[in-house]
Amino acid sequence: MPPEALRCKECKTEYPLEARYVCERCFGPLEVSYGDRSSADPAELRRRIQAGPYSLWRYADFLPVEHPQSALGAGWTPLVRADRLARELGIGELWIKNDAANPTHSFKDRVVSVALARAQELGFTTIACASTGNLANAVAAHASAAGLESFVFIPDDLEEQKVLATGIYGTNLVAVHGNYDDVNRLCTELSGEHEWAFVNINMRPYYAEGSKTLAFEIAEQLGFELPDRVVAPIASGSLYTKLARAFEEWLEVGLVAGRLPVFNGAQAEGCSPVAQAYAEGRDFCRPVRPETIAKSLAIGNPADGPYALDLARRSGGAIDAVSDDEIRDGIRLLAQTTGIFTETAGGVTTAVLRKLAQRGDIGADERVVAVITGEGLKTLECARGTFEAWQIDANADAFERAHEERLALAGRG
Ligand SMILES: *Cc1c(COP(=O)(O)O)cnc(C)c1O
Ligand SMILES: [Zn+2]
Repeated sequence: MPPEALRCKECKTEYPLEARYVCERCFGPLEVSYGDRSSADPAELRRRIQAGPYSLWRYADFLPVEHPQSALGAGWTPLVRADRLARELGIGELWIKNDAANPTHSFKDRVVSVALARAQELGFTTIACASTGNLANAVAAHASAAGLESFVFIPDDLEEQKVLATGIYGTNLVAVHGNYDDVNRLCTELSGEHEWAFVNINMRPYYAEGSKTLAFEIAEQLGFELPDRVVAPIASGSLYTKLARAFEEWLEVGLVAGRLPVFNGAQAEGCSPVAQAYAEGRDFCRPVRPETIAKSLAIGNPADGPYALDLARRSGGAIDAVSDDEIRDGIRLLAQTTGIFTETAGGVTTAVLRKLAQRGDIGADERVVAVITGEGLKTLECARGTFEAWQIDANADAFERAHEERLALAGRG
């Protein structure tokens, strides 16, 4: 089932598999379309997957790349059972998909792997991106691994950790005075003037396909079964909608059985155009000006907003938003019950999971997967002030005194 064409999501006009992303007829977004899969043999597909590398390239049969390759690798991250968090939330079966365990510590290594492999096939020697932070890390790293020139455009108010963890790779790092939506507008203009592969602009149809591998892994790691419910964050809505597309593709070829999971989307209140549209029953998003600690999700004008709304509704899910304080609590809750330290985006996901549990939306016999997309060391500021280290002199007496003081305090509390 090799990819056949780029196809407009709205009017279905087809285009060759080039670096393009928008329909010339109706300005709708383009996506990769594959040949007829109805005659595929699921046993053979499964054998090919299981014989593949322990990376996202084990799903090459479902990706728009002729020569699967990446110098850095990505994917095959842990899916861990989270019984203590489940008990804390009062739900049955909970799994955490920990995509912080990627080479540059976020799920963006997946989308960049696919976009970059396709860009090389198309002959590009320079890659670029408009980033909310994690994409900058991934593009800079994968470009240096592949020996390509790169240009990375970021809003100038990004977390210091993400700036440092990008510049170190020797990319052309461009801090733009503005928010992500300004950066994106600038890059869209530049993509018309330079022969560069902007991974999330002119390469966006290929980039988006990379997110499917996260869902393929979840299904494979559950023994080729589907979860009942998925909780995932929404920035542009690409990840959220492509997770569902991946499950639908595997249902279609018979690699898994059952029905599409319920899809819960997670946003930060300070940037929640999709959650607001969901709450108001609209099928389009009103752009907002982001103001949240969840900078990796701070897209005020989400490209895939309408498709995310459609998915939430047709899967029986919802899209919820949580406050910055709830996000910080979510980060702490996940860390203290699972040993996984996530960035603000994962705090958003965990806080929405908690909200769903409190609202009674999650059935007792459901198998739930929460998608943790990034690493806590990239948003360290959120941990500051949440605890205090014991300060002692270097002798045993000092330790025992401090210990007793702590016990007394705990006893009184
Ligand atoms: C980019 C990103 C997302 C989601 O992005 P989409 O644009 O919705 O695909 C989620 N979490 C993290 C940490 C990210 O960097
Ligand atoms: Zn069209």
